[in-house]
Amino acid sequence: MKSAAYGLVVPTTIDEAVAALVEHGPDARLLAGGQSLMPLMAARVVRPSVVIDLGRIPDLFGIVHRGDHVAVGAMTTQRAVERSETVVQHVPLLALAVTRIAHATIRNAARSVAASPTPTRRPRSP
Ligand SMILES: Cc1cc2nc3c(=O)[nH]c(=O)nc-3n(C[C@H](O)[C@H](O)[C@H](O)COP(=O)(O)OP(=O)(O)OC[C@H]3O[C@@H](n4cnc5c(N)ncnc54)[C@H](O)[C@@H]3O)c2cc1C
Repeated sequence: MKSAAYGLVVPTTIDEAVAALVEHGPDARLLAGGQSLMPLMAARVVRPSVVIDLGRIPDLFGIVHRGDHVAVGAMTTQRAVERSETVVQHVPLLALAVTRIAHATIRNAARSVAASPTPTRRPRSP
């Protein structure tokens, strides 16, 4: 099945994304890596009138160590988190936990904002 028709907004700053959310309200959905949202839209379980693609906002990418904490941008892939020397060094449990989400192909596309390690859902094959 194909998704229902929807509008696409591609902001390049966080302010533009917030403005689009305010403008379109609950009819809008944010798009990160699309690993959950796109199948749900294709099955028409979710039918947003507007999709806000966060993939062109540089400020949402990256991993930075700032004194007493590590900041992970919402659009950083789960795979990048897993492979980050900064995360491995300062938040080793996070680096390990991310490897429990799905498999590498999914983690290459899925973003940190949607990460929720649940070992019981880990696929049997790598
Ligand atoms: C084969 C397969 C296996 C999987 N196995 C696991 C598993 O073992 N454990 C597990 O936990 N998950 C698993 N998942 C789910 C996977 O983790 C999610 O699909 C993925 O994390 C979603 O990330 P995404 O970047 O693709 O988000 P999207 O699909 O783009 O978005 C997911 C949701 O987050 C919202 N969203 C996106 N960005 C933001 C933002 N900045 N702020 C607020 N909301 C936002 C979207 O509107 C949407 O509702 C699996 C998925 C697949 C396809």
